[in-house]
Amino acid sequence: MVGRRTKILATLGPATDRPGVIDELVRGGLDGARINTAHGHPDDWRRQAAALRAASESAGRPVALLVDISGPKLRLLEDVLPREVLVGESVTFVGAEESPDGARGVAWPDLINAVIPGVSEIVIGDGAPRFSVVTTYEGEVRCTCIRKGPVEPRKGIFVTHSRVELPAMGGHEVEHAEIAAELEADFIALSFVRSGQDIRRLRSILDSVGSTARVVAKIERLSAFDALDDILAVSDGVMVARGDLGVQAGVARVPILQKEIIHRAVGDGKLAITATQMLESMITAPAPTRAEATDVANAILDGTSTLMLSAETAVGEHPVEVVRVMGEIALYAQSEPVYQQDIEAPVESRAEALMQSAVLLARQVGAAAIVVPTTSGGSARAAIKYRPQLPLVALCRDPAVARQLALDWGVIPALLEGEADSAETFVELMVSGAIEVAGLRPGDTVVVAYGSTLERPGSTNVIVLRQIAGAGGRTA
Ligand code: PEP
Repeated sequence: MVGRRTKILATLGPATDRPGVIDELVRGGLDGARINTAHGHPDDWRRQAAALRAASESAGRPVALLVDISGPKLRLLEDVLPREVLVGESVTFVGAEESPDGARGVAWPDLINAVIPGVSEIVIGDGAPRFSVVTTYEGEVRCTCIRKGPVEPRKGIFVTHSRVELPAMGGHEVEHAEIAAELEADFIALSFVRSGQDIRRLRSILDSVGSTARVVAKIERLSAFDALDDILAVSDGVMVARGDLGVQAGVARVPILQKEIIHRAVGDGKLAITATQMLESMITAPAPTRAEATDVANAILDGTSTLMLSAETAVGEHPVEVVRVMGEIALYAQSEPVYQQDIEAPVESRAEALMQSAVLLARQVGAAAIVVPTTSGGSARAAIKYRPQLPLVALCRDPAVARQLALDWGVIPALLEGEADSAETFVELMVSGAIEVAGLRPGDTVVVAYGSTLERPGSTNVIVLRQIAGAGGRTA
């Protein structure tokens, strides 16, 4: 959607599998789609990825595919008897393959070694029920319920202050990373990251299968928040995964953690995705609550690059409408003067110095767009670190690079067509490539930043101003 700078990423699922829904979402301005490997099977993911690519092709817009590797989530066993547990009740958990009578089975034999009696709590689902661990005895973890709620088969569980942290890339995750590479995912997100080491391991697996996907670390463990600098140094972006983060850190801490994670990621020039329960009531309701609309707007004011929808689009009743509503809230939020003007972000490379100057120049001359040819995407990302309050058209030769820019704040990625044999004809080519995608009109001024050695990565060294000519005229 021309004009909306914060991007929208929607999770695919049964609701978007209905005929025509993905096409409608893409036509309505969706920037990226997420396949969550916690649900469905590889053949579902293959079908969904193909439908997304076809929709993007017919809309003539690059749309990113993000595969979210679900990670080592502990779950209650399949044969746990569903029931409501009340505060004060004693409940015993056992790490086992089958639920023993009278105990809640957890598919993790190491449970007994992980808990610290008197300190650890066991949390089910999104936070209820919650148990404090009283003691361990002959393989049993004996607890008291401190927040009531339903116990159900296959529900996720989390142990606070666990002595053992499962590795983020320990089991099925490797296979899912290989499938993501086979699907030519533009982004791969990794759940339950603990440190930069988890990301390095994912990258080496992707390198071995020839994937150039950008890697997003999901920040949902407190250990990941503590290791944020280390993680940012080796990731292309982070996701504020508010669901599990809320379980692990406590819901009360989520708003401030969100601000801090976004601020540090964006300050490092990285992608920041804000996820979970953004427009939750629209899973069934036709319109969001005031609190949800405010949450979406506040994530934008925090500086997020991308807003994510989960169940709202995967299983919700209004997948197309929820994306439209989110886009509308985003447009209003960005029009406010309080919206951040981050021209002061630190300059850490020559490319960033040049792009900061281009953004400043565009602002001073009231330009209608900045146009950047980009081989790897790097020049466009260097520019958006300074949050230009105008469209930034990134012209790419490689469709994969264009898709990888689709989730970046403020970037309109498009394909650069045609050849140029001189700097002047190259500038002409770029300006004409930007006119339609950025909705430029005769008389508009554009700032073009490019490399005098033409289309070599990292070579950007020229900034020029051009005015869009009237019909039949030449760009001045
Ligand atoms: C989250 O926990 O907020 C999240 C995005 O991860 P998932 O959807 O995989 O639970």
